[in-house]
Amino acid sequence: MPELPDLEHIKDVLNRRLEGRRVERVKILRPLVLRCLQEQLISTVEGNQLQSVRRRGKFLLLPFADGTLTFHLMLSGRFQLAQRKDRLRSRTCLILDFAGGQELRYFDPKFMGRIYLAQQGDFSRIPQYLELGPDALDEYPSLEEFKSRLCHFRGMIKNVLTNQKFLAGIGNAYADEVLFAARLSPLRKRSNLSAGEVTSLHQAISLVLAEAIRIIREKIGERIEAEGRAFFKVHRRGGSPCPVCGTPLTEVSPNRQITTFCRNCQK
Ligand SMILES: [Zn+2]
Repeated sequence: MPELPDLEHIKDVLNRRLEGRRVERVKILRPLVLRCLQEQLISTVEGNQLQSVRRRGKFLLLPFADGTLTFHLMLSGRFQLAQRKDRLRSRTCLILDFAGGQELRYFDPKFMGRIYLAQQGDFSRIPQYLELGPDALDEYPSLEEFKSRLCHFRGMIKNVLTNQKFLAGIGNAYADEVLFAARLSPLRKRSNLSAGEVTSLHQAISLVLAEAIRIIREKIGERIEAEGRAFFKVHRRGGSPCPVCGTPLTEVSPNRQITTFCRNCQK
């Protein structure tokens, strides 16, 4: 599931390769993922220039003069840069065919992602978009703001971190990586964290995200369809030795979401 670092990287690659380029044709192969009228999408995009791609939380925004194509990739949505002649992946849903033969393809093995069209800067019809908290990279709160925002959220700290209303961009995988870096158990209640632990958490979020973006940029490059997760320290590595202390990592799945952590390092 793509999270902030993956999408930040995709945004950079798309801007490098496609910003200012004109879309010659829109090909809709699987309308199932569209949350807008096909004719509207085509009239907004076809024949028009892609402006600077943006990211907000886990949404990727492709703006055109008359509207913004907005992707929420959910569990399985992916992008691919290809040439017209390249073989099509199965479950390709949408293709933006740019002048010059370059294609941006969206494929989605589970068809769970969503593609919206925000017209005239109106994002109000995009579920969850208007409720997003500050972006965990571009609008990262100061420690003081972080503390005061945190007070409004209850329950297990992992659930707070993945709540997009608290901070936008962190999902199930990066929450595990952040909590490992902060040496906090994902099962801790937010209300029981000490001031020092909140400070560690605040630091860990920006360090883990920045480091992940750096590694993904280096390892994935322009193969934006690839999953950059081989460097994870704990997430989905249950049973493997903790990279710090060697204790086998614990894996649990409350609410069918996999959580991995070290019982020894994370208190
Ligand atoms: Zn450990």
